[in-house]
Amino acid sequence: MVLAESVTARDGGSWSTLATSVEGRAIRALTLGHGPRRVLWVGGIHGDEREGSQATDELPAAFLARSGAEERVTLIVVEDLNPDGTERKTRGNGHGVDLNRNFPAESFRASGKHGREALSEPESRALGELVASWRPELVLVAHGWRGREFVNFDGPAREVAERFAVESGFEVVESEEIEVTPGSFGSWAGKELGVAVLTIEYRRGADPREAWERTKGAVMGVIDP
Ligand SMILES: [Zn+2]
Repeated sequence: MVLAESVTARDGGSWSTLATSVEGRAIRALTLGHGPRRVLWVGGIHGDEREGSQATDELPAAFLARSGAEERVTLIVVEDLNPDGTERKTRGNGHGVDLNRNFPAESFRASGKHGREALSEPESRALGELVASWRPELVLVAHGWRGREFVNFDGPAREVAERFAVESGFEVVESEEIEVTPGSFGSWAGKELGVAVLTIEYRRGADPREAWERTKGAVMGVIDP
């Protein structure tokens, strides 16, 4: 597993396989830096929301270019938690399960779309195991939202969300203001494990390059404050 390796990042590190998807695709992860602050970036969880893909591609270089970041922060980048969904351009994984409803929060509700039980899917299991064992202080997850761009947060991340909002121009939207999300990653890791979770909702259909340009200062500012 990626944790054991702690790739030295002078050369940008190297990608390793965190887990394998339902259809056999690699879920890749990269560890950068060796600082005490532990931050996890998840480049996508819904296969039809790939607006954060450019950010995921650019983030390693931006992190390495930031003076001293490697000494202050250990950053794990998960490229795409749902490579099958990305390939098919579907929200769910290869089983049609919405991975962001498959986490063992109290609110989890078993169904065909949420999974027969929490963590039934290899993709959600991989993220769940990583977060439970590594215990990052902050997790950022890239999503896309139709007609709107904002940040949402779970757990002790209000201040982080507000800082992100100031830097990016995205508004902060409270969880209560948006849809009910049983079994979501944020409701498990944020509310139940107490990990700060920042959900970045890029505007659906936004140009990924422009999305990164607009938010890179905010992303780097919360990863390495
Ligand atoms: Zn989403």
